[in-house]
Amino acid sequence: MSKTIGVLALQGAFARHMQVFESLGVSTVEVREPDDLPGINGLVIPGGESTTISKMLVRWDLIEPIKRLIDNGLPVFVTCAGLILLADHLVNWDDLPRPGGLNLTVVRNAYGRQIDSFEASLEISIPGDPALSESPFNGVFIRAPRIVADGVGEGVEVLCSFEGHPVLVRQGNILGASFHPELTGDDRLHEWFLNNMVNAR
Ligand code: GLN
Repeated sequence: MSKTIGVLALQGAFARHMQVFESLGVSTVEVREPDDLPGINGLVIPGGESTTISKMLVRWDLIEPIKRLIDNGLPVFVTCAGLILLADHLVNWDDLPRPGGLNLTVVRNAYGRQIDSFEASLEISIPGDPALSESPFNGVFIRAPRIVADGVGEGVEVLCSFEGHPVLVRQGNILGASFHPELTGDDRLHEWFLNNMVNAR
């Protein structure tokens, strides 16, 4: 049966995620309100501005329904601001309304002003995945959140680190990246999410 990926489309970098999934042969749907959620086989929470996305999640009553779906095992891929919105612990911003679900401590905008945005060659190693280990992945970091190295809690697997900080993690049905994998034309992570988390369900 063909799969449909819901992409949270309240604000931010959702359009490219949709294009990448469409190019991999799956349908996508924009998620803007709770009625858009039934029937999706996976959910993406994209990068953008986490404070703005949070406000809109509250306005559209989306936090509880998203939380329930995640608790029920829906595969979720979160990038950048999306990672902030699923982090259970946020340094300085812990009262930001959000679904949570990732047993992690995250600092917003932690890479500093001068190097606000940068690209880095990432060595991703996911057990049993030859395509990702074959060559480095170009990670685009845009005012990225930093996962605190000793803030990785139980149940979280670190799939890639950069300069001592995790940048790609998995906790059960949640895959989280602090960078923007949708911007580089390299769709290996989206493909891995589909094959190993969405289709494996
Ligand atoms: N700095 C943004 C935030 O704190 C995240 C940036 C991004 O998603 N590229 O929400």
